[in-house]
Amino acid sequence: MNITKLTSTKTICNSYLIEEGGFVVIIDPGQDGVVETEIDSKGYTPEYILLTHEHFDHVQDLEAVRSKYNIPVVASKLCSERLGDPKTNLSIIEDILSYYKTGVVSEEKSPRFVCGEAEITFVGEYELQWRGHQFAFIEAPGHSPGGVLIILDGDHYFTGDYMLFNEETTLRLRGGSEEDFVKITEPIINGIPDGVIIHPGHGATYIKGQEGETK
Ligand SMILES: [Zn+2]
Repeated sequence: MNITKLTSTKTICNSYLIEEGGFVVIIDPGQDGVVETEIDSKGYTPEYILLTHEHFDHVQDLEAVRSKYNIPVVASKLCSERLGDPKTNLSIIEDILSYYKTGVVSEEKSPRFVCGEAEITFVGEYELQWRGHQFAFIEAPGHSPGGVLIILDGDHYFTGDYMLFNEETTLRLRGGSEEDFVKITEPIINGIPDGVIIHPGHGATYIKGQEGETK
C-alpha cells in the first residue's frame, strides 16, 4: 500500500491517494486538478472518494473527479447534505478564507459552487472494507457539522481540518461549534494513541506523540 499526499496551491489543501495494486481510494479531491493529474499520470484506477468534511477547499474538484471516473462518494449524512449549498460548503467566502490562509489576494473572483450528495452516507460510525484494508469513519463535529475522522487499518488517521500540525482547530466558521468540539470530538482526538500517523487536510504529516519529527 502507498499513500500519496497531493497539495493544491490555492488553499494549500491536502488530498490523499491510497493505492493498492494500481487501484486507489481518494480522500478529499481538493482543488487545482491535483488528484486527476496524479491518477492519470500513474495510470491508477480509482474506486472511491472519501470526504473528511464539506468545505470548498476539500471538495472543489469533487464533481469533476466523480464524473470522470464514475465512482461513489462516501461522506457523513450532514457532510453530504451541506455540499449542496455555497453557504455551507463555504465556497461563498472562498476568497476571504484563501486570503486568510495564504496572504495572497486572488486576481479572479472564485466561483461559488455546489456538489451533489454522496452515494454512501452514514450517521455516527461507518466501515468500508477495500482490497484487504479497512477504513473506519467516526463523526467529528466542531470544525464543521459534517466532519469525520477517517482511520485506515488502525494506524493512519486522515483528520481533515483537525489536528493540523502546530495549528489550532478553527471552530469559528459557519457551522462550527466549540460545544460539539469539546463534547464529542476533543475526547476522540485525545484518545488517539501515540505512534499513529496523522495525515491532516493542510500542512505536514506527522507521528502522534513525536510532533517534533514531521514526515
Ligand atoms: Zn474546513
